[in-house]
Amino acid sequence: MNVEDIQAVFIDRDGTIGGTGHFIHPKNFKPYDFSEDAFQLLRDHGIKTFAFTNQHRISRKEASLQDFQEEFLSYGFDDAFICPHSEHDKCKCRKPNPGMLLEAAKKHNLDLKKCVVIGDVGDTDMLAAHAVGAGRILVLTGWGKSSLNQYRDAWKDVAPDYIASNLLEAVRWLLKID
Ligand SMILES: [Mg+2]
Ligand SMILES: [Zn+2]
Repeated sequence: MNVEDIQAVFIDRDGTIGGTGHFIHPKNFKPYDFSEDAFQLLRDHGIKTFAFTNQHRISRKEASLQDFQEEFLSYGFDDAFICPHSEHDKCKCRKPNPGMLLEAAKKHNLDLKKCVVIGDVGDTDMLAAHAVGAGRILVLTGWGKSSLNQYRDAWKDVAPDYIASNLLEAVRWLLKID
Protein backbone atom coordinates (compact mmCIF):
# COMPACT_ATOMS: atom_id res chain seq x y z
CA MET A 1 0.00 0.00 0.00
CA ASN A 2 1.39 3.41 -0.93
CA VAL A 3 1.61 5.76 2.01
CA GLU A 4 -0.39 8.43 0.09
CA ASP A 5 -3.23 5.95 -0.41
CA ILE A 6 -3.76 5.08 3.25
CA GLN A 7 -6.99 6.67 4.43
CA ALA A 8 -7.26 5.46 8.00
CA VAL A 9 -5.72 3.19 10.59
CA PHE A 10 -7.89 1.28 13.06
CA ILE A 11 -6.08 0.62 16.31
CA ASP A 12 -7.04 -1.97 18.88
CA ARG A 13 -6.76 -0.89 22.53
CA ASP A 14 -5.87 -3.63 25.00
CA GLY A 15 -2.44 -5.07 24.31
CA THR A 16 -1.89 -2.71 21.35
CA ILE A 17 -2.09 0.86 22.71
CA GLY A 18 -1.27 -0.21 26.25
CA GLY A 19 -2.17 -2.56 29.06
CA THR A 20 -1.96 -6.31 29.05
CA GLY A 21 -4.61 -7.50 26.63
CA HIS A 22 -7.08 -7.81 29.51
CA PHE A 23 -9.80 -5.33 30.54
CA ILE A 24 -8.52 -2.22 32.31
CA HIS A 25 -10.93 0.58 33.21
CA PRO A 26 -10.22 3.80 31.25
CA LYS A 27 -9.33 5.65 34.43
CA ASN A 28 -6.50 3.18 35.10
CA PHE A 29 -5.39 2.51 31.53
CA LYS A 30 -1.83 3.54 30.64
CA PRO A 31 -0.74 3.69 27.01
CA TYR A 32 2.74 2.31 26.31
CA ASP A 33 5.35 5.06 26.28
CA PHE A 34 5.69 4.89 22.46
CA SER A 35 1.97 5.01 21.63
CA GLU A 36 1.64 8.80 21.50
CA ASP A 37 4.52 8.94 18.98
CA ALA A 38 2.70 6.41 16.81
CA PHE A 39 -0.53 8.45 16.87
CA GLN A 40 1.38 11.63 16.07
CA LEU A 41 3.19 10.07 13.10
CA LEU A 42 -0.13 9.00 11.59
CA ARG A 43 -1.61 12.46 12.10
CA ASP A 44 1.49 14.09 10.57
CA HIS A 45 0.85 12.03 7.44
CA GLY A 46 -2.80 13.08 7.24
CA ILE A 47 -4.05 9.60 8.08
CA LYS A 48 -7.18 9.30 10.20
CA THR A 49 -6.90 7.31 13.44
CA PHE A 50 -9.75 5.30 14.87
CA ALA A 51 -10.04 3.19 18.00
CA PHE A 52 -11.32 -0.29 17.25
CA THR A 53 -12.15 -2.25 20.37
CA ASN A 54 -14.33 -4.93 21.95
CA GLN A 55 -15.34 -3.89 25.47
CA HIS A 56 -17.91 -6.38 26.68
CA ARG A 57 -17.50 -5.19 30.28
CA ILE A 58 -19.65 -2.22 29.25
CA SER A 59 -22.55 -4.67 28.97
CA ARG A 60 -21.81 -5.64 32.59
CA LYS A 61 -21.79 -1.95 33.59
CA GLU A 62 -18.17 -2.13 34.76
CA ALA A 63 -17.41 0.91 32.60
CA SER A 64 -19.45 3.16 30.33
CA LEU A 65 -19.24 3.79 26.62
CA GLN A 66 -18.55 7.42 27.47
CA ASP A 67 -15.55 6.48 29.66
CA PHE A 68 -13.96 4.83 26.62
CA GLN A 69 -14.96 7.58 24.20
CA GLU A 70 -13.33 10.18 26.42
CA GLU A 71 -10.19 8.07 26.67
CA PHE A 72 -9.87 7.78 22.90
CA LEU A 73 -10.63 11.44 22.24
CA SER A 74 -7.89 12.31 24.73
CA TYR A 75 -5.44 10.50 22.43
CA GLY A 76 -6.54 12.75 19.56
CA PHE A 77 -8.31 9.99 17.64
CA ASP A 78 -10.74 11.05 14.95
CA ASP A 79 -13.37 8.61 16.16
CA ALA A 80 -13.80 5.52 18.31
CA PHE A 81 -15.60 2.32 17.39
CA ILE A 82 -16.42 0.34 20.50
CA CYS A 83 -18.44 -2.88 20.76
CA PRO A 84 -20.11 -2.90 24.19
CA HIS A 85 -21.75 -6.30 23.75
CA SER A 86 -21.08 -9.73 25.16
CA GLU A 87 -20.67 -12.70 22.83
CA HIS A 88 -24.20 -13.81 23.80
CA ASP A 89 -25.68 -10.67 22.25
CA LYS A 90 -24.84 -11.98 18.76
CA CYS A 91 -24.13 -8.46 17.53
CA LYS A 92 -22.48 -7.61 14.22
CA CYS A 93 -19.92 -5.28 15.76
CA ARG A 94 -17.97 -7.60 18.06
CA LYS A 95 -14.64 -8.48 16.43
CA PRO A 96 -14.02 -10.74 14.49
CA ASN A 97 -17.24 -9.45 12.92
CA PRO A 98 -16.45 -6.49 10.67
CA GLY A 99 -19.48 -4.40 11.73
CA MET A 100 -17.46 -1.58 13.28
CA LEU A 101 -15.26 -1.30 10.17
CA LEU A 102 -18.32 -1.16 7.93
CA GLU A 103 -19.92 1.47 10.15
CA ALA A 104 -16.73 3.55 10.07
CA ALA A 105 -16.51 3.26 6.28
CA LYS A 106 -20.03 4.59 5.93
CA LYS A 107 -19.64 7.35 8.49
CA HIS A 108 -16.25 8.59 7.24
CA ASN A 109 -16.59 7.66 3.56
CA LEU A 110 -13.66 5.22 3.55
CA ASP A 111 -12.47 2.58 1.13
CA LEU A 112 -11.58 -0.20 3.59
CA LYS A 113 -9.06 -1.62 1.12
CA LYS A 114 -7.12 1.60 1.80
CA CYS A 115 -7.34 1.16 5.56
CA VAL A 116 -5.23 -0.85 7.97
CA VAL A 117 -5.99 -2.61 11.25
CA ILE A 118 -3.28 -2.84 13.91
CA GLY A 119 -3.96 -5.26 16.76
CA ASP A 120 -2.55 -7.98 18.99
CA VAL A 121 -5.14 -10.71 18.47
CA GLY A 122 -5.27 -12.85 15.36
CA ASP A 123 -8.73 -14.30 15.74
CA THR A 124 -10.40 -10.92 16.34
CA ASP A 125 -8.32 -8.04 14.91
CA MET A 126 -6.78 -9.84 11.93
CA LEU A 127 -9.96 -11.74 10.99
CA ALA A 128 -12.10 -8.59 11.07
CA ALA A 129 -9.62 -6.79 8.82
CA HIS A 130 -9.43 -9.74 6.44
CA ALA A 131 -13.23 -9.89 6.16
CA VAL A 132 -13.30 -6.45 4.51
CA GLY A 133 -9.98 -6.56 2.64
CA ALA A 134 -8.22 -4.14 4.96
CA GLY A 135 -4.49 -4.30 5.69
CA ARG A 136 -3.40 -6.25 8.76
CA ILE A 137 -0.54 -5.66 11.15
CA LEU A 138 -0.16 -7.90 14.18
CA VAL A 139 1.81 -6.49 17.10
CA LEU A 140 3.75 -8.71 19.49
CA THR A 141 2.65 -6.83 22.62
CA GLY A 142 -0.44 -8.02 24.53
CA TRP A 143 -1.61 -11.37 23.10
CA GLY A 144 0.51 -11.03 19.96
CA LYS A 145 2.98 -13.82 20.66
CA SER A 146 0.32 -16.27 21.79
CA SER A 147 -1.77 -15.40 18.73
CA LEU A 148 1.13 -16.66 16.64
CA ASN A 149 1.67 -19.77 18.77
CA GLN A 150 -1.02 -21.51 20.80
CA TYR A 151 -3.93 -19.61 19.19
CA ARG A 152 -2.71 -19.68 15.58
CA ASP A 153 -5.27 -22.36 14.60
CA ALA A 154 -8.14 -19.99 15.32
CA TRP A 155 -7.11 -17.78 12.38
CA LYS A 156 -5.03 -20.20 10.32
CA ASP A 157 -6.43 -19.12 6.95
CA VAL A 158 -5.34 -15.51 7.35
CA ALA A 159 -1.83 -14.05 7.36
CA PRO A 160 -0.84 -10.64 8.67
CA ASP A 161 0.79 -8.32 6.13
CA TYR A 162 3.39 -7.59 8.75
CA ILE A 163 4.30 -8.62 12.29
CA ALA A 164 5.62 -5.68 14.30
CA SER A 165 7.28 -5.67 17.69
CA ASN A 166 4.87 -2.95 18.82
CA LEU A 167 2.52 -0.18 17.68
CA LEU A 168 5.23 2.34 16.91
CA GLU A 169 7.18 -0.14 14.82
CA ALA A 170 3.95 -1.06 13.02
CA VAL A 171 3.31 2.58 12.12
CA ARG A 172 6.90 3.16 11.03
CA TRP A 173 6.70 0.11 8.74
CA LEU A 174 3.41 1.33 7.31
CA LEU A 175 4.81 4.79 6.64
CA LYS A 176 8.05 3.34 5.25
CA ILE A 177 10.20 5.12 7.83
CA ASP A 178 13.56 3.44 8.47
MG1 LIG B 1 -6.12 -6.39 22.00
ZN1 LIG C 1 -21.27 -5.42 19.44
